Amino acid sequence: MEIKSFKDPIPQVTYLVKKKLWAQVLVGLFFGLIFGLILGPETGIVEKKISEIITTWLSIPAHLFLKIIQMIIVPLIFASIIRGLLSAGSVEQLRTMGIFVAIYFVVTTAIALGIGVFVATTIMPGSFIDSSKMLESLEIDETSQLVENVEFNFLDIPEQIIGLIPSNPLTSFMSGEMLSIIIFALFVAVAMISLPKKKSEPIMELLESVQGITMKVVSWAMRLAPFAAFGLMADIVSKVGMDALVGLGTYMVTVVLGLFIMMLVYIIIIKVFAHRPILSTLKMMKDPLLLAFSTSSSAAVMPVSLKTAEDKMKVKPTVSEFVIPLGATINMNGTALYQIVAVFFLAQLFNIELGATTILLIAVTALMASIGAPSAPGAGIVILSSILLTAGVPVIGIVLLLGVDRILDMTRTMINVGGDLTACLFFDRQIKGQDLSEG
Ligand code: ASP
Repeated sequence: MEIKSFKDPIPQVTYLVKKKLWAQVLVGLFFGLIFGLILGPETGIVEKKISEIITTWLSIPAHLFLKIIQMIIVPLIFASIIRGLLSAGSVEQLRTMGIFVAIYFVVTTAIALGIGVFVATTIMPGSFIDSSKMLESLEIDETSQLVENVEFNFLDIPEQIIGLIPSNPLTSFMSGEMLSIIIFALFVAVAMISLPKKKSEPIMELLESVQGITMKVVSWAMRLAPFAAFGLMADIVSKVGMDALVGLGTYMVTVVLGLFIMMLVYIIIIKVFAHRPILSTLKMMKDPLLLAFSTSSSAAVMPVSLKTAEDKMKVKPTVSEFVIPLGATINMNGTALYQIVAVFFLAQLFNIELGATTILLIAVTALMASIGAPSAPGAGIVILSSILLTAGVPVIGIVLLLGVDRILDMTRTMINVGGDLTACLFFDRQIKGQDLSEG
């Protein structure tokens, strides 16, 4: 992350826009907004029909962006989950600590999801935009998109649980049933961990290539992002007007508020369960948190988190060396929280009512999807498409969120990293004095 220092702000802005994708997306968003206002009926400069033709063409990059992401999402998630779980280290470590750490990760992610549902349903960020105009703008036929909302029925639960295990994983791959794919990946990962390394290594290398290739394709799609943001913003603002901006602003506030509440949960864990002083512990976390904010990548911060845990927090290396790398890859409370708010926001926007069973399904998928999200900038929004598919919410909505994603990515990555450090402190306290490395 090299940002050159310029005394003059103008060259600095030029540098950012040239080098940084998020700055380009912001510029795209801004010009899209202006262009949308010009095309809109309020100004009366352009005839409605002509404006419609222009915006249809302008929204091509947004659709292309989405198609490319959808094209690679299945292999990406499959490879990321298996690689994430296998990064846990030795079978021995997994046996001694693995199950407790896994339970802790699941519990904290569930708390994050609960907070997400709470803020999204209380603030209702999606209700600030006129949904009928929105549907018209994105050419979505209201009736065709509504998912069948199954009423919550206890009798259905056993059948649904059984249904989660795919009888034919290839069918799940072909129809993009995310949850079944994720569960299949979990089975494969656990089996690979239990095998001798020599036997699982070829598949591991293959998956590494698959992940690398899919991420490369994502990086190409990302180049379209500024144009996608421009076109979609122009399209939406020309039809929905300034309401679109108010809605997006409220959505951002909702996510940030949720993340802030999650930080309070960490503070409680640090104080009550890890018995550490709050202020000085937060001060120790400062470096990795700031780095997370500026890089938007848990993977990039991982070495610094490890150093902070060991040198400053004096966490036992057996704990930190297991929890930090594993946490950086699979424990993403911030991402899960953000994803659930995004799903609710878009569902509200598209007038889709989410029933109890659907919410449960979304939460489970978000839990798994946050495990499957690579710890890279913007990964959360790419993986979001899989949850939207599960929820029956139009995936095109992602492009709308793309414009404001960078700032949310920076904030959620901070929470992801904070979560791993908190987990370290928690386990350091629980595994009192049994430093396995010494024994
Ligand atoms: N950028 C996040 C991380 O690396 C992942 C995400 O996009 O949510 O932790």
